[in-house]
Amino acid sequence: MRVHLVNPSDVAFGTGVITPRWLYVLAAATPRAYGDPVIVDETLNPFQPQSVQAGDVVGIGIHTANALRGLEVGRLARARGAWVIFGGIHATLYPSEAHGLGGAHAVVKGDGDIVWSQVLADCLRGSPSAEYDGGRVAADRFLPARWDLMPPASYMWASVQTIRGCPKHCSFCSVWRTDGQQPRQRATDSVIAEIVELRRMGFRFIALADDNFYPVTLADIALAENRADSRRVAELRRLRAERFELMERLAQLPTDMIFFTQITMEAAEDPAFLDAMRAARIKGALVGVEAVTAEGLKSIYKNFNLVGDSLVERLRTFKAHGVHVLGSFIFGLETDGADTFEATSQLATKAELTFAQFVTMTPFPGTVDFNRWEKTGASRFMIEGTPISRYWLIPGHLRPKLYTPHPTMSPDEIRSRTQAVWDAYYRLPAIWKRAGCVKSLKSRLAFVLISKLYRQMYANTGIATDSARRHAANRWVRRIAPLCRTLFQAKPMPSLQVPATTVTTIAPFAILGD
Ligand code: SF4
Repeated sequence: MRVHLVNPSDVAFGTGVITPRWLYVLAAATPRAYGDPVIVDETLNPFQPQSVQAGDVVGIGIHTANALRGLEVGRLARARGAWVIFGGIHATLYPSEAHGLGGAHAVVKGDGDIVWSQVLADCLRGSPSAEYDGGRVAADRFLPARWDLMPPASYMWASVQTIRGCPKHCSFCSVWRTDGQQPRQRATDSVIAEIVELRRMGFRFIALADDNFYPVTLADIALAENRADSRRVAELRRLRAERFELMERLAQLPTDMIFFTQITMEAAEDPAFLDAMRAARIKGALVGVEAVTAEGLKSIYKNFNLVGDSLVERLRTFKAHGVHVLGSFIFGLETDGADTFEATSQLATKAELTFAQFVTMTPFPGTVDFNRWEKTGASRFMIEGTPISRYWLIPGHLRPKLYTPHPTMSPDEIRSRTQAVWDAYYRLPAIWKRAGCVKSLKSRLAFVLISKLYRQMYANTGIATDSARRHAANRWVRRIAPLCRTLFQAKPMPSLQVPATTVTTIAPFAILGD
């Protein structure tokens, strides 16, 4: 019995940007007695059904965007006589789809880290259960990934997770509902050991693939103190101290290493935290700005973000502390008007964002927005027999680009205005100006290439409706991605050791007056 793990995708660029971490974590969860799993990342190369033999196990992880292809892979694997197991957020939410349309023998809901070995044992016995509940695995049981199984020369950046869960509750996001609102923070030693392994292999750019790198705000601590909730205060301080400990350990790694993460803009309130990020060489962070008006933020339950000059100031604070921001904005909120697009574009420039992404409002399953949208009767509208409230089952070329009705703008107006903002923001002169944030000519050229690549990968393959434009973008990405990968790689350091654990930081307590 061989184990195959498949990350489905309709589009293969031959080179990946970030390693799909779940594949290598599940490989680590596969007992060695079954041999090394066969790992297939379809963003690199398509799944080959003939590689599967009767009695093999095929594990397929799906989220909403790749669910349709994942279900197809499941059927192909089942036709080969394999045990077909689905996991991932989409299968957790819709297990019956995996069974009905994907040929699944079993669906794993929640985290697969622990339960996977049970699933394999049951397949070997010939009697897997229809459903397994992996729950939310405690942080001390997160598994380090099996990076030794990664194909060489395939990815630009590696990914390491340091925390799961987010205490916020944004209406368009499913993270807080699936990963929970209680942050599960991984032990520093385990994170550092994994990063060292990746640097030995030649990865110097690492994405810290976290839901929210800043899980405890100063306001959270002050609130708990006001309530005289000493247990909560101690818990929050412990989490905060561990963040600083991690950053201090990152700072001890080779100086050519660079990290990126995802964070709420509240971190800008906290100079000690930003300075620790700078020292740790966490040089970039995706910050969900989402909307530039108070009404827009209220509509998505993100009132903790700021607007106007305060927003510009807060975003600039990151840069002042050496952390570049990839600002993420959503278009198509009910409160948006035709002037929102230009206002957002201007704000992105004024706030000196290093990168920006402009996504259109999409109701993702598992979110408050999706439930609200479903209740408006979305399931009454059909495309080739599939209700629009199950849009991920509609073939890509027939799928609408926008789903939620807007009070004043048509879907096409929102889509084309969004495309125009991408086009303007990623014009060559604008990119070249932003490239001034790096010093050498080589770095500036790399900046231009990665900006163009990012824009092509998302805007032209994701939201463009013109198929010629999409195909041209695909071809362009296939040509440029390998070149970008070589720019990101470093000479392997096979003898690199894990730095000694001499952590001295007391900064978080100093700022709190401890
Ligand atoms: S802050 Fe980010 S991760 Fe947390 S709920 Fe909001 S969008 Fe999701």
